[in-house]
Amino acid sequence: MSETIVPIPDWARKVADSLGDGPHVVVTGISVSGNIHVGNLREVLVGEAVANALRARGEEVRFIFHADTIDPLRKIAPGIPESFEEYLGHSLSHVPDPEGCHASYAEHFLTPFEDALREMEMDIEILRSHELYEKGVYTEVTREAIEHTEELLDVLQEVSGRRMPEHWSPYLPRAASGDLTGNRVIEHLPNQKSVVFIDRDGNEGRSDYSKGEGKLGWRVELAARWKALGVTFEPFGKDHTSRGGSTDTADRMAREVFHYPVPGRYEYEWIQLKGRGAMSSSKGIVLLPKDLLKIMPPDALRQMVLGRDPARALDLDLEGGFPRFMDEYRASVEKDPVLFTHLVTVAQTVGTDVDAAAEMLRRGGYEAAARDREKLARELSYARIWAEEWAPESLRLRILDEDEAKEAASGLDADQRGYLAAVARELKEDLDGVAVQDLLYSTAVERGLKPKRAFAAVYTVLLGKKSGPKAGPFIAGLPVELVRERFSL
Ligand SMILES: [Zn+2]
Repeated sequence: MSETIVPIPDWARKVADSLGDGPHVVVTGISVSGNIHVGNLREVLVGEAVANALRARGEEVRFIFHADTIDPLRKIAPGIPESFEEYLGHSLSHVPDPEGCHASYAEHFLTPFEDALREMEMDIEILRSHELYEKGVYTEVTREAIEHTEELLDVLQEVSGRRMPEHWSPYLPRAASGDLTGNRVIEHLPNQKSVVFIDRDGNEGRSDYSKGEGKLGWRVELAARWKALGVTFEPFGKDHTSRGGSTDTADRMAREVFHYPVPGRYEYEWIQLKGRGAMSSSKGIVLLPKDLLKIMPPDALRQMVLGRDPARALDLDLEGGFPRFMDEYRASVEKDPVLFTHLVTVAQTVGTDVDAAAEMLRRGGYEAAARDREKLARELSYARIWAEEWAPESLRLRILDEDEAKEAASGLDADQRGYLAAVARELKEDLDGVAVQDLLYSTAVERGLKPKRAFAAVYTVLLGKKSGPKAGPFIAGLPVELVRERFSL
């Protein structure tokens, strides 16, 4: 549920300005061979921002997420049973779900990402490449590619500097075994939209390319896809745009073989997870969009993942730096937001009790935030899950139970105990955060106790720590009986 419309960033407007008149087709293509992580989401968000910038100038835009579901399984990702080796070379849409919960391997990884895009209310069409092949969307470009096998081969060898195997074909027919990678095309039957091939065991077979019985090799497919879908813009990560990489070959194939203009391009940089390294499914450094949607609203996620400039590498700090990000984000979309660290304190103090949270916020001086219960429930959930999963130790709170509090109190000296007892006598139901803070401070001064030791005593009996969140609002939010009891141990 988005609460605000994120303004179109400058970089996206510039990209849109560099593209000609529409109609436009913005495409992002992602492999579904493993978890689709937040780094992959960056690509989709770049496409979304550019699509929005084009729409803002009145262009007709089709925004597509091209899920590479027909691609062959190339390696066994971490966590996938080794028995899946028998499916190497098979289309991801034809390989079973390793966990048995979806219709295929491809769906297992695509579905959670699709759910996240839906939760973000993204205006995007999700296309599965195996369906595009089955529906004939790629038939014409496949025929064209097979007819120009020699020219495609030349481009591939010149640009990549690698020698392709003898009998190379741009088309990968699917053998009866399901294998796409070990077959040799020996004849093209254009009238039947088919090829004849020999599989790795020497058996002859036929593959109808208008019915999804095979696919183009991925470097050729990239250029062919531009033409088949009429693509005018596509963002790429730096792994594709390096010299001799897939965009170099696709650009030449588009111009020289498919006679299709190279779409506008934007190179985005990768995302690192602070302290863990670049996001990578194959290395198991994976953060899913749905994980982040548990701790922030969709538009905050957009802002965080794009950063100021997606052409620059980004270090996501979900730990100590996260409260500041949330405060900046919320200050940009609402008036006088509650500090995120305060929400974190409240959420950890009241659990899921929204009424208690509202009361705690009201006493802390946040009248407005206390009023909108639905929004408050959402924000408490973000704060609570962040505290559980990402918060540094210093922000994690748990009110001690009575026995734990007794034991913690036994470490205090007589001055500190006397101080707590004095505070307990003065504590009243209707004191707000400021008043409690005053009481804590003035009682310490009256009794000649250094404030630092006084507050340490407070945190010790409540949290078992020497420090904690600002004491006045924190205590004002707790049931007064509970505090009196803890202070009188
Ligand atoms: Zn599944």
